[in-house]
Amino acid sequence: MSYQALYRVWRPQRFDEVIGQKLITQTLKNAVKTKQISHAYLFAGPRGTGKTSMAKIFAKAVNCRHQEDGEPCNQCETCKAITKGTMNDVIEIDAASNNGVEEIRDIRDKVKYAPTEADYKVYIIDEVHMLSTGAFNALLKTLEEPPANVIFILATTEPHKIPATIISRTQRFDFKQIQAKDSLSRMAYILKEKDLSYDDEALKVIAKASEGGMRDALSILDQVISFGDDKVTLDNALLVTGAVRKQLLVTYLTQVTHQETQKALMTVQEILDEGKDPERFTEDLVNLTRDLLLYQQSPELVTQIEMDQVDSDFKQLATEIKPQQLYDIIDDLNDIQQQMRFTTHEDVYLEVLTVRLAGRQAQPVQSGATAQVDNTVIDRLEAEVSSLKKTVAELQKIPAAGSTPSKRPAVMKTVAKPKRTQVNLSQVYPILGAATRQDLSALQEVWPDLMNILSIPQRSIMGVSKPVAASPDGAIIAFDYAFLQQRANADQELNDALENGLDRLTHKVPKLVFVPTDQWPQIRKTYLEQHQVTGQDNQEADSSSQDDGQASTGEAQSKDEPVVDKAKELFGNDIIDVKAD
Ligand SMILES: [Zn+2]
Repeated sequence: MSYQALYRVWRPQRFDEVIGQKLITQTLKNAVKTKQISHAYLFAGPRGTGKTSMAKIFAKAVNCRHQEDGEPCNQCETCKAITKGTMNDVIEIDAASNNGVEEIRDIRDKVKYAPTEADYKVYIIDEVHMLSTGAFNALLKTLEEPPANVIFILATTEPHKIPATIISRTQRFDFKQIQAKDSLSRMAYILKEKDLSYDDEALKVIAKASEGGMRDALSILDQVISFGDDKVTLDNALLVTGAVRKQLLVTYLTQVTHQETQKALMTVQEILDEGKDPERFTEDLVNLTRDLLLYQQSPELVTQIEMDQVDSDFKQLATEIKPQQLYDIIDDLNDIQQQMRFTTHEDVYLEVLTVRLAGRQAQPVQSGATAQVDNTVIDRLEAEVSSLKKTVAELQKIPAAGSTPSKRPAVMKTVAKPKRTQVNLSQVYPILGAATRQDLSALQEVWPDLMNILSIPQRSIMGVSKPVAASPDGAIIAFDYAFLQQRANADQELNDALENGLDRLTHKVPKLVFVPTDQWPQIRKTYLEQHQVTGQDNQEADSSSQDDGQASTGEAQSKDEPVVDKAKELFGNDIIDVKAD
């Protein structure tokens, strides 16, 4: 007989066996007892907290003819069939894999038919937030006029992604993280039933490492049991829990040093899926990076401190990676930690971090101070500043009387209007010319669904983007990070995926143009200026007036120039002095 994972074997079969959700089990039991059953329930909560187990128990309880005190008997044919998953009237759908409109339409067609074997037809839709807008609309229609004897149970880890119109038609239950003491006593119970010995301390370590998910706790317990010849010892628990996390971190750092962005993004996702806190992840990464630095200088010391945790992957990484790279990584981690404090989208920043770390390894010589800003902008500005300094030095050599006005406007032009090769204005302007509020609203509405369709690496590039203008056949998408905008530009597969997704969601394929968010206000302003009364000539007149030494004009213009602002930020007022000079 093949080995069955603990969390499968010990999946709760009665409400009383569900750990840590007392309020919910009580309410559902009462509903069964008093036959006050809703048409739709929403089970929201972190993973591993018992949502789908609860849904199946509920499906049994409402259909079991021998239910007692709201609990299913688990002995009758109906109960057994539902437990085994062979009951036709209890339908489980994983929205993560079946997110098409068709599957939900299929429900709409079949939902009309009365249950054949049971009293209630129960649809359990797991990860319901993954449904497309179309599928949600189809589902909503069904929920608006639910046939008799049909129950929908929608389970999700991300209730905020579900339309309010759907939520308002459900009875909502929020599942709580499992308390350490609850998962501890459940593990103790299982081990006693299996007649295995254990250290109390070991169970504490496992409960802590699983951070509120019963499924994770039992998976770790499984590993500890198999590792320790059927004994659950503290040493083994420490080893297994520590190793799991550390191994993933080493894998992650190895992947970014090898510039394997996509694999690294998968690893981040794996870590997040395990319910790890993004801030904790960056903290652990900082610690690992320090361990690596320390190991490079004194291997014996680290081996001592970390005991058996220095494995071959760690050693391999320690030999491959240069100390400067490690210092750079620590700088990046510090930056990201700062930014994470001001956001509720910490996971997006982890993805940004990953793309940046992997990209950084391609350009090994970077100073920490420049990490915040797009490298190409800095490179360009640095080149411009050094050419300006040269020009200024040359100008200073020339006697004041014989000043050479012909040279100076050229200098200012370079400063005021640096080339922006990343943004193709000839693509932007036609879209702006035909842009409407309605087109933008329509695109904004499907945008979250479009993001859901993308692969994880694609989503991480698009995660900090949003539509800022749209016409019937085009749209402008702004990116908070210029380096992600450039990546999006260069990624044909991503562009195809976006087009296909939009085709599916809107039956239109608008031309998408990507711009960095910090350039967007200026692009829009310039467009408006050029397409209103004042023509382009006016702007040139402006810049020539600076030639007369009107510092105020120059400064006013610099306020509208994000790149110049950035330059001020980075290089002080040098450039401005040159202009006003
Ligand atoms: Zn039964």
